[in-house]
Amino acid sequence: MRVHLRNPDRIETVPGPAAVAEVLAHLDIPPHTVLVLHEGELVTAEHLLGEDAEVEIRPVISGGAGPTCVICRSPAVIEEPRHRAAWCSVHFVDHVQSQVRKAIDQAPGLGARERMISYDERVLIAVSGGKDSLALWDILLALGYRVDGLYVGLGIGGYSTRSGEVCRRFAEERGVRLHEVDLAGVYGYTTPSGAQATGRSACGVCGLSKRYVFNRVAVDHGYEVLATGHNLDDEAATLLGNLLRWQDTFLARQQPVLPADGTNQVRKVKPLYRLSEREMAAYCVLRGIDYVVEECPLVEGNTGHELKAALDVIEARSPGAKAQLLFGFLDRRERFAAADDRGEQLAACERCAMPTTGQVCAFCRQQERIHAALPLAAAQP
Ligand code: SF4
Ligand SMILES: [Zn+2]
Ligand SMILES: [Zn+2]
Repeated sequence: MRVHLRNPDRIETVPGPAAVAEVLAHLDIPPHTVLVLHEGELVTAEHLLGEDAEVEIRPVISGGAGPTCVICRSPAVIEEPRHRAAWCSVHFVDHVQSQVRKAIDQAPGLGARERMISYDERVLIAVSGGKDSLALWDILLALGYRVDGLYVGLGIGGYSTRSGEVCRRFAEERGVRLHEVDLAGVYGYTTPSGAQATGRSACGVCGLSKRYVFNRVAVDHGYEVLATGHNLDDEAATLLGNLLRWQDTFLARQQPVLPADGTNQVRKVKPLYRLSEREMAAYCVLRGIDYVVEECPLVEGNTGHELKAALDVIEARSPGAKAQLLFGFLDRRERFAAADDRGEQLAACERCAMPTTGQVCAFCRQQERIHAALPLAAAQP
């Protein structure tokens, strides 16, 4: 593989495949002194790099030739063109936490005295094992909120096994509570088997299942708020998708704070909406948070992925474009508010009592279709 080293700039060839830790050992570089980037993303020590990988290694402690921290002027570990700023590791962690602080205290749509989350509320955070949700859990705990985690086992082979392990370890190490719901054990199907049974896309089945379980667990356990790790890149891509199809109702509901509009529902919040994917990866690396770097193997069918790639092209040419798109929309959100009539139509699902705009909720209908096609799975509890 080709390894690009900085300060001074040079290229080394290292035999692959090899884990990041092995590459660093081969080059005689102490791991804590560098950040390793593969395809533009920060990667952790266990990340496996292929024979043809192109890797960049950036010193954390540079010789002084590189950018310096905007706060303390010591050598910077990360630059963010969007903010036209660079930070040392201490001040980068501060920067990320202060962006979450700002999201919580000044979220669009809230009054001057209202907060996305208040200190007397119990928060449930949906964790996937990926960087965003685990970083958010870490940040909310650091800011002093009362936060428990929820992991939904989707039954996506080794990816789900590893994701569950990472979440459990995170909770154990910090002595915090993690709820777990295994789709197969509780509802009798996995994401792949549910997709096969219904003929729907895996992401369609998965998304509906997760949204339902998140709300259900939050309601059943008396949490007031459900937090998810959607970041700036996720929200900008969702916005672009909604705009391309002019889905007014979705646009009306695309907000960092979605109030509970009915019984058996909790408020949903996205405290990372001001932070990019790259910032979250860097935060995890700098805070020593172990996360699953690999992507879900079923992500191919996810249209959000293509929209993200399209926005990346624009962002590379004009840094800040994603933030402008999203924040500009949030400033104008009132223009779409009239399209949100969901609150008026909500009633309790006949089968599960969760909120729905019909008689039977979409999740119960999906489950019925799955169980009709998967009788053996239906026999499970
Ligand atoms: S990529 Fe699709 S199937 Fe995989 S976890 Fe995300 S929504 Fe679920
Ligand atoms: Zn600094
Ligand atoms: Zn239902």
